[in-house]
Amino acid sequence: MSGVPLLQARELVRRYTMRRGLMGRPVEVRAVDGVTLALERGRTLGLVGESGCGKSTTGRLVLGLEVPDGGNVTFREGPMPPRQTAEWRRLRARMAMVYQDPLGALDRRLPIGTQIAEPLDIHGIGSRADRPERVAQLLRDVGLRPDHAQRYPHELSGGQRQRAVLARALATGPELLVCDEPISALDVSIQAQVMNLLAEVQERSGIALLFISHDLRAVRQMSHRVAVMYLGRIVEEGDPDAVLHSPAHPYSQALVSAIPQPGRGGRRIILQGDPPNPAARPSGCAFHPRCALAAALCSRAAPVLKPLPDGRLAACHVAHGTVSPRDGMPQQRAA
Ligand code: SF4
Repeated sequence: MSGVPLLQARELVRRYTMRRGLMGRPVEVRAVDGVTLALERGRTLGLVGESGCGKSTTGRLVLGLEVPDGGNVTFREGPMPPRQTAEWRRLRARMAMVYQDPLGALDRRLPIGTQIAEPLDIHGIGSRADRPERVAQLLRDVGLRPDHAQRYPHELSGGQRQRAVLARALATGPELLVCDEPISALDVSIQAQVMNLLAEVQERSGIALLFISHDLRAVRQMSHRVAVMYLGRIVEEGDPDAVLHSPAHPYSQALVSAIPQPGRGGRRIILQGDPPNPAARPSGCAFHPRCALAAALCSRAAPVLKPLPDGRLAACHVAHGTVSPRDGMPQQRAA
C-alpha cells in the first residue's frame, strides 16, 4: 500500500443560482464551500450534519455526478480525468453509490437480477454467459438468495430492496462506495442489519465507504473518522470517539447533545435562531447567529479548519483559544 489515500477531495466548491419568485433577483448559493477530505482503502469516513448542509452534494461531487465549480478530486493517486472520457469511465466503474430510498433507486418494471447485471453490461465486465452465476454470487454476498433475481422490487421487503441496491452497487467491484443516508428509509429493526452488512462487505473486500447520514449513532458505529458539516463547510473532523463523545465545535456539541443518552444526564442544547439559509450566509463564522459562545470576532472573521492539540480539526475561534467566549450572544438554552 502506498500510504496515499484512495480518495482525496480538495477545496470542493459547488454553487447554484436560485431565484426567489418570478421577478426575484438571482441569488448565488454555495451548497459546498471549500470541502477538503481524504479517505483510505478499507476505511469509513462519516459525514454528518443537518439536512441541506451540503453532505449529499459533496458525495455527488466526489462521484462526478455533479461538476464542481472549484477544487478537484483525486482517486487512486491521480486526478480524476475529464468526465465522459474512456479513462474517466474506467475509474468511475470503481466507484458506486447507495441511495436513501431503495424503491426509488430500482426500476419497478425490471426483475432484480436484470438490474444487478446492468452495471456489468454498461462497463463490459465479464461475458454474458457468466452473468447468471455472477448475479447469483452478488445476491449471496448481500444475504439474498439466487432466486431473488427473478423477483420484482415490489415483491421484496424494504431491507431486501436495500440489499439488492447494494448488490448492484458492488457488481463492478468498486473500491469506493458512497452511501447517502442508506438506512434512513428503513425500519429501525432493519437498520442494524444493513449497517452490519456494509461492515461485512468492507471487511471482506477492503472497500472504502463515505457514509453520509444525519444519524450520529449510525455514524459513530460505522466510521473510522467523522466530519461534521455546517452550511457547506466542514467545521470539525477527527476520530469518532473524540468528535462524537467530546465535541470541540459548538455546532457539533449541539448535535451530540440531541442524542438520547439512556442512564446518563447531560444538557440538551437547543439551537436558537433560524435554520441555516445557504442563500444568506452569515458573515464570519456562519454559525455565529446561533452560537452561545460567539465573540465579536466571530461575525467578522471566518475561522479556519485547523488542528487542535489532540489532532482533530476544528473551525472555531473559541476552540482554538483565539478569543474568549465572553461577549457571546446567549442564544442556546439547555432543555
Ligand atoms: Fe461559535 Fe465563534 Fe466558534 Fe463560530 S467561531 S462556532 S461563532 S465560537
